[in-house]
Amino acid sequence: MSPDLSLVLKLQSLDSRTVELEREVAALPKRIAEIEKQLDSHKKRLELDRAALAANGKERKSREDDIKVQEQKISKLKDQMVAAKTNEQYRAFQHEIDFCEKEIRRFEDRILDLMTESERLDKNVKAAEAALAGESKQVETEKQAAKQTTASHMQELATIKAERQQIVSQVGKEYYTQYERLRKRPGGIAVAEAVDGSCSVCHMIIRPQVMQDLRGGGDGVNFCESCKRIIYYNPPVSAEQSA
Ligand SMILES: [Zn+2]
Repeated sequence: MSPDLSLVLKLQSLDSRTVELEREVAALPKRIAEIEKQLDSHKKRLELDRAALAANGKERKSREDDIKVQEQKISKLKDQMVAAKTNEQYRAFQHEIDFCEKEIRRFEDRILDLMTESERLDKNVKAAEAALAGESKQVETEKQAAKQTTASHMQELATIKAERQQIVSQVGKEYYTQYERLRKRPGGIAVAEAVDGSCSVCHMIIRPQVMQDLRGGGDGVNFCESCKRIIYYNPPVSAEQSA
């Protein structure tokens, strides 16, 4: 393998890693925003349940007051009843008392409903409070982890940048120009290996004549005729050679 080719392969591996790191760094704030938004919606729902619970308590108090008013009315009506002069008057008072008692029962029924509802709301609020405490902690942990990952990725990116500059200063102009041109295409892979007579990236068969050139290992840059990437051939190492 020519020195230029091995340098370009190093560039390829550094650039692939750079793309990967940059993608992760860009994705982290989105992920954090997502979990924060979710946490916020859970907080809002808890606020709604708390408000409903407070409104429930308020209405209960108000219905209890209504009952007191009716009881006072009844007691006043009973006092008046004692002084009733005719049966008709007596029945009129009784009728009014009956009405008040019916009202009291209606308020009592409502209070029972409110109590059932309040139990449910109270359970919801307590469960949501417990879940929120756990979720807040989880979000905090993920935020810290994201911060650390970002810092370490940035550090690695800086190292890669320095290493890349070092390589760029050594690689031949022809190889580097072609590499840079190809790297900017979608997918970012500029160099492909010829494996079993095919391009390892686009998988198209390489013409025997081109394969011959590749095996010959000339100095020039070779390209895959299908995907136009820089193509190279790495001859298999025999057992005697590696020993
Ligand atoms: Zn190809």
